[in-house]
Amino acid sequence: MQIGCPSCNETGCDECNNEGWILIKECPQGMVGREVMNFIELADFAKNGAFPVTGGTLEQSQSFLLACRFLWNEDSQAESQQWDKK
Ligand SMILES: [Zn+2]
Repeated sequence: MQIGCPSCNETGCDECNNEGWILIKECPQGMVGREVMNFIELADFAKNGAFPVTGGTLEQSQSFLLACRFLWNEDSQAESQQWDKK
């Protein structure tokens, strides 16, 4: 799912790699706020082992890690709910 980059109004910036749009996972709740978007991005990086704070897992704030865990749980729940509908 692609949406126009809210940071640069689709003209291209660092946030969107100068693409003018950003790729997001479909959100069951529909609209998501800018902060949530940023967080999802960071959580995806963290999921791949690239944390926003250098130094690895121990350097990350506890709240960030908890939020990641929560988000990842939400992800799998959303996926299983989609399966239930089929
Ligand atoms: Zn942009």
